[in-house]
Amino acid sequence: MSGTATTVAARSEIDPHHQISFDAKRVYVPWSKGVTSTYHNIWLRDSCQCSACFHPVTKQRLLNTFAIPEDIKPENAEPSDSGLNIKWDNDGHQSFYPWDWLHLHSYQPILEKTQTYHRFLWGRNEIVENPPVVEYADVMASDAGVAEWTSKVKMYGFCFVEGTPVSPEATEELINRISFARNTHYGGFWDFTSDLSKADTAYTDLPLGLHTDGTYFTDPPGLQLLHCLSHDGNGGESILADGFRAARILREESPEHYKTLSRVRVPAHSAGNEDVCIRPTFSARPILNHDDVSGELLQVRWNNDDRSTMDRWSSVDPDGGVLQFYDAIRKWNQILSRPEVEYRFKLKPGRPMIFDNWRVMHGRTQFDGKRRLCGAYINMDDFESRMRLTNMGREAVLRQL
Ligand SMILES: [Zn+2]
Repeated sequence: MSGTATTVAARSEIDPHHQISFDAKRVYVPWSKGVTSTYHNIWLRDSCQCSACFHPVTKQRLLNTFAIPEDIKPENAEPSDSGLNIKWDNDGHQSFYPWDWLHLHSYQPILEKTQTYHRFLWGRNEIVENPPVVEYADVMASDAGVAEWTSKVKMYGFCFVEGTPVSPEATEELINRISFARNTHYGGFWDFTSDLSKADTAYTDLPLGLHTDGTYFTDPPGLQLLHCLSHDGNGGESILADGFRAARILREESPEHYKTLSRVRVPAHSAGNEDVCIRPTFSARPILNHDDVSGELLQVRWNNDDRSTMDRWSSVDPDGGVLQFYDAIRKWNQILSRPEVEYRFKLKPGRPMIFDNWRVMHGRTQFDGKRRLCGAYINMDDFESRMRLTNMGREAVLRQL
C-alpha cells in the first residue's frame, strides 16, 4: 500500500530447521540470521492462539491466565515447517505458533519495527500543483477505493474527493464509507450556513485563523470532511497548513520553543452554548503531543481562540515559564503565517475535502453572501481501523494483535 509500511519477516529469516531449546523459564528460537529469540514459558502459554484459548470469531482470550501454573514449562517443543508445536507439562495442552507470528511478536530481542506510516510533509509549493485527490465513484464502488482514499489522507494529511454529487445525502454516504459521523454538541452530520445557529465563530462569516478543531476535547476529532454546497458571494478561501511540517520547521529553527510547545499544557474550553462547557480531562494537553514510547509527533492541538486562562505554571522557573510560552507561540504563529506554509484554495461544490485534524490545521478568509457547507467529524480510531483493514487485509491486521 502507499503510505503505510508494514514490516513482514522475510521468508529467509524463518528457517524450518530451528534447534529449539527450553528450560524452566523460557523457550529459545534461533533464527537463520543468527539471532535467537527468547520467549517466557508463561507468555507463550498465555498467548496461545488455538481455538480453545482464543475465540476464533470474537478474537478474545478464552484462556484463564490465572490458572497457568507459575512454573509452567514445555514437555516438548517441536519445530514443523510452518511453526512451533509445544506440548505443556501441566495439562498436556498442545499449542502451535506460526514462525511468522513468533518473529513478528519477538520481544527479546525486538525483531520487527512497530508499524509506522510514511508521511509526506508539505508546504504550499509541494502541494499546490498536484494536491491529493480521489474519485468519488472509486470510493463508492469498492474497498480498494477506500484504501486509496484513506492511505492518501494518512500520507498527506488531507485529500479531495472529485465528482461528489452536490447534496448533503451524497456527502453523508461518502463519509460513511470510512465510518459513522462523530456526534458532538454541534451534532453528527452538519448542514450549515453563517447564521450563528451554534455559538461558534465557524458559524459566522468572520475570518478564521489556522487552527485544529476540538482542542477542548480529551480526544479531539480525528478527521473532518467539509463540502461547500453553494456560495453566492466573494471571499471564503480555505487555508490548510501541515502542522507536522510547521513543527519540524520550529524544531529546526528554535529547539527551545519546540520543547516549550511540547511541555506546557494549554487548557481550552467550548462554552458558547448555554448548556455546554467542555474542557479536557488529564489536566489539558500541550500543543505538540508525542508518542510516550517512540517520541514520534502524533498530534497538534492548536486553537488560540479557544485557549482558557492559563494559571498553572512551572514552580521551578522564576517566571514560571510564562514568558517562554509567549515567545514560543509567537514564533509558532510566525511560522504558520509564512506564504510557503499555507495552502490556499477555494472549496468547490462537488469537491469536498477531508483532513487529518490531528495534523493539518485549517482556516478560511472572510466572505460575504450565503455560503452553505456540510460535513462531519470522524473519530481517529475508526478511521485508522478502516485504513488498516482496507489496505492490509483482515488477516494481516489480526496477526498483529
Ligand atoms: Zn491453546
